[in-house]
Amino acid sequence: MPDTCVMCGAVIPEGAWVCWACEHDIMEGKPMDETNIELKLNDHEHEIGSLKHRMKAVEENQKALNSLATSVAVVAEKTDAISNKVDSIDSKVSAIEQKPGKRWDGIVDKLLWLVIGAAIAALFAQAGVAV
Ligand SMILES: [Zn+2]
Repeated sequence: MPDTCVMCGAVIPEGAWVCWACEHDIMEGKPMDETNIELKLNDHEHEIGSLKHRMKAVEENQKALNSLATSVAVVAEKTDAISNKVDSIDSKVSAIEQKPGKRWDGIVDKLLWLVIGAAIAALFAQAGVAV
């Protein structure tokens, strides 16, 4: 919202109170329109009240936002901890899954040696060599 002259309501540069025409009138000693000034002051008071109200709402939103940011940080921390635990559990499960495989491999090795031994014994028996 642009700044306006407190005397005539014309748009003026930010930070100024009166336009150059009203400033000229003041310098020339022309009487100020007090009714217009009072209306403008009332407008400004109303606007300041509205701004205070809106600022209060912004402060409440900011508090909620800060609280949310803190909660997000806590959730991120807990997520990291959970992720580490899942990694640990995953490696343990992988180790457990490999155990039956190793056991089975051992059994297959033993059976293979048994079959080879039996075949060799059969070959020796066929050749007439006593084992
Ligand atoms: Zn003016």
